[in-house]
Amino acid sequence: MTEANPTHYTGTVNRWAVETALAHLGRCSGVASNSVNPPLVRASTTVFQTLEAFKDSYKGIVFESPRYGRSGTSTNFELQSAMAQLCRAQTCIAMPSGLSAIAAVLGAHARTGGRLLVQQGVYGPTQALCDIVPAPMQCRVDYFDSPQSLACKLAPDTALIFIEVPTSLTMRMIDVEAVCAIAADRKIPVACDATWGTPIFFDAHGLGVSIAIHAATKYINGHSDVMLGLVTGSYEALASTRAWCDRQGSHVSADACWLALRGVRTLHLRMQRHFASAMAVASWLEQHPQVERVFFPALPSDPGHALWLRQFSGAPGPFTIELKPCSEAAFERFINALQLFGLGTSWGGYESLVMPAIAHHLRALPVQPDAGRLVRFHIGLEAPGDLCRDIDAALSCLEAVA
Ligand SMILES: *Cc1c(COP(=O)(O)O)cnc(C)c1O
Repeated sequence: MTEANPTHYTGTVNRWAVETALAHLGRCSGVASNSVNPPLVRASTTVFQTLEAFKDSYKGIVFESPRYGRSGTSTNFELQSAMAQLCRAQTCIAMPSGLSAIAAVLGAHARTGGRLLVQQGVYGPTQALCDIVPAPMQCRVDYFDSPQSLACKLAPDTALIFIEVPTSLTMRMIDVEAVCAIAADRKIPVACDATWGTPIFFDAHGLGVSIAIHAATKYINGHSDVMLGLVTGSYEALASTRAWCDRQGSHVSADACWLALRGVRTLHLRMQRHFASAMAVASWLEQHPQVERVFFPALPSDPGHALWLRQFSGAPGPFTIELKPCSEAAFERFINALQLFGLGTSWGGYESLVMPAIAHHLRALPVQPDAGRLVRFHIGLEAPGDLCRDIDAALSCLEAVA
């Protein structure tokens, strides 16, 4: 097994509590500048002192050692090694966005005559990608919705199993350990979109996942100003993905990595607050007369609650509600009346957001509810009482005569 770049931090997170690790990981290159934070190193060209050093640069692991700007600078390496240690993985590869990370993992495993088994209800753009990635290679994509249906669909040609916990919008849980046990019997890699749980609440590799994908655009950066994907795993599990990224010219700017490193310092603190506030707002919404249902596995009423308890140590800010049926005009008044919730896609920043599930997103739903509109909230770091009051005032618009 190849050693990580020895100039990187060599301690192990296991010795420390996570919040201690977050304060200390990814800071080695600061030594050169006598600064607390690692310097932001931007580069297209990397220069070498000797021919030997130049030749050696091609023996190192791409995206992990200086070679050419495309494979990153010390700033990228700092973030990647911090994330790898946080996830207790051997290595991490940064990619331009969460979706590009998913595209890399799917693309690296789509092979001629092979088959990708994808969980129903994964992030909509992931499904859209599944429509086109495998086609040129005559690779097939099949969907499953439980470990049982996965077991039925497994075949010798299965190249990858792809899951997301919980699924986007519908927030459905799947038994990750059961999926990984089925896959391990046949030595099939399991990739998991672990964005929702973050490494703070969800130990993907501990549950058996070989390739964990994080849209670091969300909580890891946490400040709504960076697009970034991070993929973690063993060197072996990520070998084909790394080669794919190298061939495709994948590159992440040092600025994005530097900002994400800054964000990660407070990840633990932010996640605890998102958890407490999301619980408060979701429990309150569950009792609201205008709300039909709340999809949030951290609530005891959710069908995925037992699995959530087993697989997660907390829950972040996004959850979905189904409203009681109402007219489109009333629905529009409700959305437009929200003052503390920005109307937008994404989540994971410090601020609260609302996203009505419009036709574009509904593709991600295995079952479309025939009545009642779906609305996804992201509970930010504001006071939960203020957020409840804001939603309450907006929901009163639904009662007004349509
Ligand atoms: C946002 C998101 C992505 C995509 O990440 P980007 O950085 O926006 O491309 C992937 N998966 C999940 C679950 C997401 O929420």
